[in-house]
Amino acid sequence: MIADVIINTTAKSLHQCFSYIVPDHLDVRIGSRVAVPFGPRTAEGIVVALSPGDGSQLGFDVRPVSAVLTCHAGFQEEMIETARWISEYYLCTMADALRLFMVEKQGLKRQYWAVPGEQAAPAGSEEAAAVDCVRRLGSMERSRLVQKFGQSLVEQLAAHGYIHWEQRMKNAVADKRERWLVFRHDDDAKLLARRPRQAALLQALKEKGSAPEAAFVAQGFSRDLMSRLCATGLAAMEERLARTSQLLPSLESGQAVTLTEEQEHVIQQIQADTKGRTYVLHGITGSGKTEVYMQLTAQVLAQGKQVIVLVPEIALTGQIVRQFIRRFGDQVVVMHSQLSKGERRNNGLRMLYGESSICIGARSAVFTAAQSLGLIIVDEAHDSSYKQDEAPRYRAVDVARRRAAYYGCPVILGSATPSVSDYYRAIHGEYVLLEMTRRVGNRPLPDVQVVDMREELARGNYRVASDAMVALISQAMQEGNQAIVLLNRRGFSTFVMCRKCGYVVKCHKCDVPMVYHKQGSCLRCHYCGAEEEIPTVCPSCGSKYIKFFGTGTEKAEEQLRELFPNSRIIRLDQDTTSRKNSGDRIIESFRRHDYDILLGTQMVAKGHDFPAVSAVAILSADSLLNLPAYWAGERTFQLLTQAAGRAGRGDTPGQVVMQTYAPDHYVIQCAQRQDYRAFYDQEIQFRQAFLYPPFHYLLKILVTGEDEQALWQKGNDLAQRLRQWVQQTGSAVEIVGPYADIIARIRGKYRLVILLKGCSLEEVKQYIFHDSLFWERGVIMDVDPAF
Ligand code: ADP
Ligand code: ZN
Ligand code: ZN
Repeated sequence: MIADVIINTTAKSLHQCFSYIVPDHLDVRIGSRVAVPFGPRTAEGIVVALSPGDGSQLGFDVRPVSAVLTCHAGFQEEMIETARWISEYYLCTMADALRLFMVEKQGLKRQYWAVPGEQAAPAGSEEAAAVDCVRRLGSMERSRLVQKFGQSLVEQLAAHGYIHWEQRMKNAVADKRERWLVFRHDDDAKLLARRPRQAALLQALKEKGSAPEAAFVAQGFSRDLMSRLCATGLAAMEERLARTSQLLPSLESGQAVTLTEEQEHVIQQIQADTKGRTYVLHGITGSGKTEVYMQLTAQVLAQGKQVIVLVPEIALTGQIVRQFIRRFGDQVVVMHSQLSKGERRNNGLRMLYGESSICIGARSAVFTAAQSLGLIIVDEAHDSSYKQDEAPRYRAVDVARRRAAYYGCPVILGSATPSVSDYYRAIHGEYVLLEMTRRVGNRPLPDVQVVDMREELARGNYRVASDAMVALISQAMQEGNQAIVLLNRRGFSTFVMCRKCGYVVKCHKCDVPMVYHKQGSCLRCHYCGAEEEIPTVCPSCGSKYIKFFGTGTEKAEEQLRELFPNSRIIRLDQDTTSRKNSGDRIIESFRRHDYDILLGTQMVAKGHDFPAVSAVAILSADSLLNLPAYWAGERTFQLLTQAAGRAGRGDTPGQVVMQTYAPDHYVIQCAQRQDYRAFYDQEIQFRQAFLYPPFHYLLKILVTGEDEQALWQKGNDLAQRLRQWVQQTGSAVEIVGPYADIIARIRGKYRLVILLKGCSLEEVKQYIFHDSLFWERGVIMDVDPAF
């Protein structure tokens, strides 16, 4: 057989297949991770195809596969197909696409082993003792040797030739196996009567059916006893894939809920799916989407199939995870970034072997292996976190649809504020639209009051909070309820400026203003994290009139504490959640009512269900509205509606105050009424008029480099080539740019954009895929860009 192998490397230049002969003694399958000779080295590769032949037809010397790293298929054919699609659609190498599915990105790790050298170390010296140790073991891995004898001594050993280094490759993805004792029968009463110890072991085994050998050793049964029992044929020893135990609470039968009519209807529709369609579940905030997900999940499980549930950010969506665990117990595996690689790999294997049935996780969980998928759920499907912001820049929703298509299973895109493109596809028949228009228990949607901040200013109120907002929060506090305050900017002030000359302090490496953080008392760059001391005089003109402008969450917190000295206030933003689990801790303590006011960035608007929240205050509804991006209106509407939707989910009806400088803007007005359809109808007209998604597809080619002049040259060259291609082919693709990106420089690299727009970009992508210029360093492909 001949294996087509993709080399597992990040090098963009190696993006074709290489052929290898499969030796007879190796069990190589499609999807196997293998070691292969590559030039003078050994490299890791993934087998993406197998074909008959001995290599003679290829016309060049074909070398054999050296070893198999995982004996079970590391990848299934479906994953390879999906990876191929990702590679072509998102314009990345096949290796990059395959790596998305890997937990352990490097299957082969280079190691150095010490072997005894020709020179003998002086007898009795420390060196001699070390060499002796190596000699006794035959060889010793470098880090272990260093651990035992110290860095400097080990260097001496090598320098004097007492030892040599040998390079070896370590299989980092080898399957971990363990021995399991399996019950066969206990029909031989005579034999068992004669051997009481074996009988006791068999009795213990019978209750379980099978269990790891180690479990019996822990109970005091010897290995020898087990092998003697196996020799009788009453039990057998099997090798199974090792797995770590799941640390999830076991199944607790929660009280049965009576579904609402709308929930019932949605469940019936999706249950009847035979074509594996995509459903846009547009359910207003508090309409009970989670219950729909869980009911459908239970049905899929009953068919012996598996479910992937995607959530925006595990740290902020602990509630939905806990609900699934409460209902489905250890059938659930949770994929989050705080798991070790071993745990994640184990979770993946549990899904691959069908031992677990539900995988919940953020964006990357869409790549979890599966035996047989029956449903993919994407909660809050509009959330921007589903788009990966580094290469390959995939969108999890589209990958989910691709995988689901292979299994013929449905995909649910759930949201109170579906993306405009998804909604368009749903009402035009590409997807199916399902709506839930009422809150559970017929609770009303909150009442939203819009406050014109220009009037507030005219009346002489210079605080961040309008009088209406103060009144609303006071009322909630008096009634013993909770309040949420949203301000989508962190830090204390938002920029620092000289009042005399107008100089704004910017980051040295990025083209953005530095933000003043009172906590830590420094200026911080929100793009590269650089910190600087606060200047006392203007760096440009030397004047002392350096001032802080704008309001971030830190300053808002300070002002809230002055306004509500008796309320317990907690802040939720990137600065308070940098430590492990801190986001979840803040959210849970607020849910327990340890705090009265939750103040924070968009993190406070992520689908939380806090029944005691009666008031929501949005300090600056326009924070995203004026960004120069076609999605500014959409993101604003989503944020405002989601934030407002946190209010009134319990017994007290919700009230919302929205502060804005643009009260007449349609986005603000539609958000005030929480009227998605009205917003959509306006927004889609604008998209059509300017040919933005869903009417046109976009491809953003980002070109980055340190030398500004050379960069423009390169950008112009690339754009020129594309324009030539358009001319030659008569294609209807529009090429815009190059122009400087919204942020013209990040981490010392300038950024240019060439934007491609068209009804179809498939042909131009084909062209790009085969032109090496676009695979150079510093050229970044962003298909369906988020900005
Ligand atoms: P959404 O995600 O649509 O905003 P949730 O799924 O958080 O809404 O549900 C809102 C609340 O209603 C939750 O507290 C949930 O437990 C409850 N709920 C959902 N369905 C029902 C039902 N059929 N009967 C009673 N309560 C329900
Ligand atoms: Zn100045
Ligand atoms: Zn910076």
